[in-house]
Amino acid sequence: MRDATLTVHHPFVDESEFASLCPPTQRASTIVFDTAESYSKRGARDLDSYSYGMHGTPTQRVLEAQLTALEGGVKTVILPSGQAAIAAIFLSALKPGDHVLVTETAYPPVSGLCENFLSVLGIEWSTFPPGAGARIGDYIRPQTKLIWTESPGSTTMEIEDIPAIAAIARERGILTGIDNTWATPLLFKPLAHGIDFSMQALTKYPSGHSDILMGSVTVNDLTLRKKLRDVMRMMGYHTAPDAVSLVLRGLETMAVRLAHSGKVASEIAREIDASYPVEVLSPVLPSSPGHPLWQRDFKGASGLFSVVLPEEWQARLDRALDALEVFAIGASWGGTRSLIAPMSVAAHRTTAHPRNDRTILRLSIGLEDPQDLRSDLNRFFGILTQA
Ligand SMILES: *Cc1c(COP(=O)(O)O)cnc(C)c1O
Repeated sequence: MRDATLTVHHPFVDESEFASLCPPTQRASTIVFDTAESYSKRGARDLDSYSYGMHGTPTQRVLEAQLTALEGGVKTVILPSGQAAIAAIFLSALKPGDHVLVTETAYPPVSGLCENFLSVLGIEWSTFPPGAGARIGDYIRPQTKLIWTESPGSTTMEIEDIPAIAAIARERGILTGIDNTWATPLLFKPLAHGIDFSMQALTKYPSGHSDILMGSVTVNDLTLRKKLRDVMRMMGYHTAPDAVSLVLRGLETMAVRLAHSGKVASEIAREIDASYPVEVLSPVLPSSPGHPLWQRDFKGASGLFSVVLPEEWQARLDRALDALEVFAIGASWGGTRSLIAPMSVAAHRTTAHPRNDRTILRLSIGLEDPQDLRSDLNRFFGILTQA
């Protein structure tokens, strides 16, 4: 062969005695076949086989299998973001004329998806209030084909009775899905409680370093997986192996990171609750309405909780936030750095609640020294409580 050919033909390297602890990052758009026959029969193989980079390389398969094991499911699909994972579930489960019932406390872009995209396609949606549990039947319509939950609820942290909702939905032949990003499958395993689609934003704890967007959906039914893969193929959803390999790396430390952040966050939530005239929203507090369900169903807490501020602190809030030295101001969460984000939920809620109109601070506890976090919060609350 001549030089130009040699520049594009990679030589064979014997890998038989190579063993590394890290899964290789295998990139591909084109995937080639040994024979004309295996090429022509490629479509007849199962969905785990390789035919085009769009549908995954062994790098994606490793993450899929690892998440499947953690979730206790049968198959997992990987998507370019958490929101894309939610959209893929909705598109795979709903068709024009169907209705989707969504928790009022869902991650806010979910209502955007329903209102601005699905409703245009003739898919109706409505919400149910947090804490509906066994009363979910009151909100189900004859056309309801999917119930979408999130527990704890976004920002306001209500715990939902997932087994009760899943049981009622199953009786009526309705699919259920959950955004399990707060707990990750380490703290709550939705499929074991009867949920059909367990979704998480890998963007948060699994990637763990604030540098990746990715989502996953795990199911224990091959038909649901097939429908998800159909949507992904038609929409051209693809997640690069380089990003997947960073999530594989992040995942290796997730149990330790999550245990640490959960412990420190629970301590700090209790301290804030005991020290200031605020309402702390966290299922770890025995005074929280969701506490008994959380104790029943969850293995522990992650690092995210919220604090509802008294109205009279509002004028000093920006100054207090600007004085933070350890916490960064920002949305998202699940990384090494602790974050504070002032949130307002009123625009997304249909059930009246006095806190809906107040500023809610969402705190994500990272991996800094807890004493540095406490000093920063003391300074922060010091400014807020100044007469
Ligand atoms: C971040 C997040 C999402 C969306 O994930 P992206 O990867 O940012 O699209 C969905 N649900 C919850 C609860 C989240 O925290």
